[in-house]
Order: sequence, then C-alpha cells, then structure tokens
Amino acid sequence: MAQEIRNLTLKELEDHFVKLGIERYRAGQVFGWLYQKGVEDFSLMTNLSGPLRDRIGESFVIERLELEKVQTAADGVLKFLFKMKDGARIESVAIPLQGRWTQVGCRFACAFCASGSSGFKRNLSAAEIVAQLLAVRRRVPEGRVSHVVFMGVGEPLDNYDNLLQAVRIMNEAQGLRLGMRRMTVSTCGLADGITRLAGEGLELELSVSLHAAMDKKRSEIMPVSRVHPLKRLLPAVRTYIEKTGRKVTFEYVLLGSFNTLPEDALALVKLARGMNVKINLIPYNDTLGRAAFREPTKLEALFFKDYLAKRGIDVTLRRPRGEDIRAACGQLRAQR
Ligand code: SAH
Repeated sequence: MAQEIRNLTLKELEDHFVKLGIERYRAGQVFGWLYQKGVEDFSLMTNLSGPLRDRIGESFVIERLELEKVQTAADGVLKFLFKMKDGARIESVAIPLQGRWTQVGCRFACAFCASGSSGFKRNLSAAEIVAQLLAVRRRVPEGRVSHVVFMGVGEPLDNYDNLLQAVRIMNEAQGLRLGMRRMTVSTCGLADGITRLAGEGLELELSVSLHAAMDKKRSEIMPVSRVHPLKRLLPAVRTYIEKTGRKVTFEYVLLGSFNTLPEDALALVKLARGMNVKINLIPYNDTLGRAAFREPTKLEALFFKDYLAKRGIDVTLRRPRGEDIRAACGQLRAQR
C-alpha cells in the first residue's frame, strides 16, 4: 500500500528512493516541495518529470487535512478544525504560532481539561502532526510559523515514536528547518517518557504540567500522578535538565481557591527552588462549564505570582488568549 510521504525523514525518503531506483537527490527536491512550498500534490512538483512523478505517486500518497472551520479571535488567535481521512477531527491553534495535536483524544483525563472528556481514539501519525503545521502555515500572516508547541489535545509522550519522527521531519534542513529549541513538548508528567527524551541528544524545550506541588492535591485533578508521583517525576525532570542543559517549564493552571492558596504557593516554592525551571501560571479557562472549578480572580492570580517572584522563582502569568473563540484544549471539537 502506498504510504503517506510525510511520515518519513529525509534520510528515510532517500533510502526508499534508492530502493525504487530513483536518484537520492530527488528526495531533497520533494522535501523542498512538501515543506518549503507546502505543496500537497505530486503533479505540482514541476522540477520532476511526469513519469518520475507518476512513479513516486505509485509508492506514496499525500493525505490532505480537510479544513472544516477557522475561527479568529479578537486578539488574532486563530483556531482550525481539521477532519482527517478516517473522519476523526483535530484542532490546531495559531497564537499566531502554536498548539499542535499529537493524538485524537487523550487517555489521561485531567479533571479540568476538555480533551480527556470524550475519551481516547488513536495516535496521530507523524504525517498528520506535520500536516497540521503545513496547513496552518498556509493560512497565517506571512506564511511563517516560528515555534511549535505540542500542547493541543493528547499526550505527546504517549505517542512517543510518532512525536519524535515528526520533530525530526520538522527539523530537516531541506524541509521546514524548525530549530529544536523552537519546539516544545508539553507533558502531563510521564516520568519514563521524560527520561527517554532526555537521552535523545536533542535540545527540545520541555514543559511539564504540574498544576499542584503536592501529590495529594495533584492526584485529585490529575489521575496520572498516581502512577507518576512527584518522587518519580521530579528526578526525571532533573535528568532532563542535566542532560539537555535546557531550562524546563512547569505549567501551573490556576484553579480558583483550589490550588491558589498560600500553602500551595509555599509548596511550589520549595519544589522549584534550586532547579533550573520556570513556572508558567495559566489562569483556568472554564471549558465545559463544570461546577467543580472556577477561574481565578485577578487578585488570586497576582497574589500567587508575587508570592513566587518575591522568593526568587522565575515565574510568568499567562494572559488568557483567544478566550472569545474558546481556544483551550479540545473546546472546538467538544462543540461538535
Ligand atoms: N498532555 C499534555 C499537553 C496538552 S494540554 C500536557 O498535559 O501538558 C496543554 C496545557 O493546557 C496543559 O498544561 C493542560 O493541563 C492545560 N489545560 C487544559 N485544559 C485547560 C483549561 N481549561 N484551562 C487552562 N489550562 C488548561
């Protein structure tokens, strides 16, 4: 069966071409069309002869993501809803830069997140991950995407092999040329995956969704912490910092009066102190209108930030963006 060509790194495509009796350098030309020009049709690759294009088309396919809907927020955030060949839907957010999906649905069911609410369907292929970037790029100002964050629906480290493959493809010098430091992997805290990623010899940015600095509280909102408690997670993060030399970000969603109390701030200071980390506070975006959580007040958010900053912790408070189009994880899809 013909395979989706965007699942392959340049080296792999070259090897395939050689096996098919096609000159190696042709793979680089095809890469240029796919990733620099964003072409999704072999017949448009005009520096290849007609017969050569036909031969390539016998072994490979390019599966388009069908764009079902685009929404633009007042602050310029764009949100895309794509349908794949099997009918499953995924969203991408451009801020005007980021937010790639890695799975359809998510297994980890964090209590405050819309992504887990409709269950897990399947992993995305490397090609489907890369195709989102190409499809979004075509529709953003200047056709340029500077950073990619694997932070949409799904858990990137639960789709480890395809994620890494997509990262390598996006990094290809003859392709999208996206630097490793411009790609961020966000994880709910799979310790094994973090340790494995640390050993890849890449300089990827890592974000860990911490959301509570005490296991008991973390378990209440993130079932994953029962399997990967802090005593497993933190050593993995330390390993990542040591091996890659990167500063790691802890994401901390502020859930009004749940994890915004002085005791929470104190626990977080103790946890972060001495580690090369940055804390990114994200005001909770009320997705499903559930009664269990509420958005933090401005005062709660500022108190929390100041508490950390005054104790020497590197902390930022994210301004909510794209709120009017409900750009948080899985919201567009949940409406369908
Ligand atoms: N599974 C990965 C990546 C996807 S979620 C991870 O957990 O990191 C991207 C980030 O948005 C995570 O930090 C997630 O916890 C957070 N998030 C999910 N729903 C949210 C909401 N309603 N409001 C604010 N942040 C949310």
